[in-house]
Order: sequence, then C-alpha cells, then structure tokens
Amino acid sequence: MKITIRRTVKWILWGLATVSVAFGLYLSLFFFPYPLFPHHAEFAGFSVWSDREIPDDFELVLDDARRRVDNMELFVGGSNLRIFVCHSRRLFVVLNRLAGKRFAGQALVISAAGNAFFSVPGIEAVRLRNGNRIPHSRLEGSWPAAIAHEVAHGLVVAELGGRLARRVPTWKSEGYADYTASLLPAVSDPDYDFRSRVGWVLDDTLWRGSVGPVDRRHFRWHLLVEYLCSVEGLSFHQLLADTVTEQTAWAGMIAWYSSGESPG
Ligand SMILES: [Zn+2]
Repeated sequence: MKITIRRTVKWILWGLATVSVAFGLYLSLFFFPYPLFPHHAEFAGFSVWSDREIPDDFELVLDDARRRVDNMELFVGGSNLRIFVCHSRRLFVVLNRLAGKRFAGQALVISAAGNAFFSVPGIEAVRLRNGNRIPHSRLEGSWPAAIAHEVAHGLVVAELGGRLARRVPTWKSEGYADYTASLLPAVSDPDYDFRSRVGWVLDDTLWRGSVGPVDRRHFRWHLLVEYLCSVEGLSFHQLLADTVTEQTAWAGMIAWYSSGESPG
C-alpha cells in the first residue's frame, strides 16, 4: 500500500514537472523568443529582431514609423514595443495558433510581454491584394503603418490600463489605431481628401476585388474615428464616451458628407 502511494505521488510530481516545463517553454516563446530571431538591430528608438537578415531599408521603415508615433496624441515618450520580424510564414502561423488566434494577419502583439510579431508575407499579401486602392490605411500593406498601428494600441493600454482598454469597442480601438497610425502621412499628402474617402466607402464598385469582396469594415471604422477626431474635433478621451456610438458617428459623418461642408 505504502509503495503504491509513493509511486502515485512520484507520477504526479513527474506530471507536474512536465506540465511546468511545457508551460515555461510555451511562455518563453512569447516572452523570450530571441533564439528564433537571431538578427538584431536598433533603429529610431526601436529594437528589432528578425528570423532572417534585416533588410537594409528597414531603417527607413522605422524612421517613418517613429515620425508617426511621435506625432500621436497619446505619445509621451518612453518605452516601445519590441519588434520581431517573421519572414517565415510557418513561424508566424504557429505563433498565432499557439496564441489562440485562428487567422494570422499582419501582426500579433503580446502586450504583457511588450513584444510585437510582424509577418513579412502577411503585410506583403495585403499590399499585393489592395495595391493603392486606399492609400494611408491598413489596406495599404505598409510596414510603417502596421508598426505604428500596434504602437497606438500599446499607447491606449498605457493611457487607460489593460482592463479599461479591453472594454473599448472594436470599432473605436481599431479605428483609432488606424487613424492615428496614418494621420501624419495623411496631413502631409496634398492629394489627401477626407471627403473623397467617405465617398470611397460608399462606392460598392471599389470593394469587389478580383477574388471576392474586400472587407471594408476596418476602413469604415478608420473613417468614423477620423470624422469624429478631425471634423468634430473630439479628443481621444471624448471619443470614448458611451454616447459616441458607431450608429451616431455614421449618421453624423454621412450628414456632413451630404451637406458638402469643408472640414472644420
Ligand atoms: Zn489593431
């Protein structure tokens, strides 16, 4: 009897040790992924790790991302996301699956670790699929915009704390990240016209795509936040008010679009 109990305890301890080691390995994938990304560089205040040689022009990408971030309303200096560049599609898909995501897009952020994984094939696929359909938006497939977008989410968490940030509706959090990530190049572009962009979201012919309809939800969220912040003049905190709903924002934007007033 004594021997059986001792053996059972031994098996339980072995089981616990195995589970702990597996869990430790799992966490280290997201918190200390450095062995998988042996190439390292520091550019424009960003720390970058890559699974393959870092391209020479990446410094320009990060200079651009830096300017976008420095221009953000919520930016107060301080720490950045660590950037992990996945050239390998498989590695990025595995990381997403292990993080519980069914679909691998352009980026995966582990906020608790301050680590952001970006997919070279993912960003390239968006760029090829959409080309110049909608410049200065997430549909562009732009590295500086993708990086600035994830930094913007991080700034929202830093501003509100994780619990409140999670309660922000998706249209506001995604719309705000896209809006603030592309704000600087948008205002610096003489051809940028917000009114035409509202027209684009309403134009079904623009969203047919060669392989089925293109999802315009994110662009719509981007426009709603841009309308509220740039035309109505709302600050980030005013945008978060419960009275500001997707329906009221859409109604306001369409009324403004139809009235033909110039941005205030
Ligand atoms: Zn996002």
